Amino acid sequence: MSAFILEKLCRGCKRCVNTCPVQAITILSHLPVVEPKLCIECETCMEACMHGAITFRPTEERKANE
Ligand code: SF4
Ligand code: SF4
Repeated sequence: MSAFILEKLCRGCKRCVNTCPVQAITILSHLPVVEPKLCIECETCMEACMHGAITFRPTEERKANE
């Protein structure tokens, strides 16, 4: 599992980027992207996001939908 950004809900505020303790979130084309290999599943970003734009998905499912 890793955190996953729901792009349609994201407002690009970058709160998640700034709160991730392991810098697993970077901005790519104005939207945050989670690096699954770095994510430690701490849920800090989910709590920080005021727009409900972060969820958790199994990494394989995430890849299948890309
Ligand atoms: S905190 Fe939420 S709305 Fe803000 S950039 Fe991150 S995912 Fe998007
Ligand atoms: S769950 Fe934690 S480690 Fe993973 S992206 Fe969010 S803040 Fe970073």
